[in-house]
Amino acid sequence: MTTKSTTLPTGLKGSCLCGKVSYSLTEKPSQFYFCHCQQCQKVTGSSFAANIVGPVDSIRWLSGESLLTHFDHPLRAFSKTFCSLCGSGVPHINKSKTSLVIPAGSLDHAPAMKPTANIFVSESPEWLSIGLSANKFSGYADKKSSDDEK
Ligand SMILES: [Zn+2]
Ligand SMILES: [Zn+2]
Repeated sequence: MTTKSTTLPTGLKGSCLCGKVSYSLTEKPSQFYFCHCQQCQKVTGSSFAANIVGPVDSIRWLSGESLLTHFDHPLRAFSKTFCSLCGSGVPHINKSKTSLVIPAGSLDHAPAMKPTANIFVSESPEWLSIGLSANKFSGYADKKSSDDEK
């Protein structure tokens, strides 16, 4: 690989919820997918992880690097890096050290690329598809409809 000298930012920047950790990407990511595996459900506390994948050496930490906490699953090829103050997932190098995994929600702006795959859908919880077709509101659910549920 001859990418070592590439330090020009791609324009893609991201940060955690509390704002202490921020980063920029120096190379364009190559993949964008939703992972529905049980590990991603646990680590996000939600139904799936939206992950963008890029080259290992494309991350530049702009602030808060000392706040990063890294977790490697002892049994599975699964890792996570998060802000130790607010718990937000931020980019991490995967356990096999082959790629940088960027939680899409940590980006400050929408990436140019679109998700192209849903993986491990066999592990997706039933409530995801049910929830996606539930009533939609631009903000909190209307009081009226939550009363209707009682
Ligand atoms: Zn934070
Ligand atoms: Zn997963």
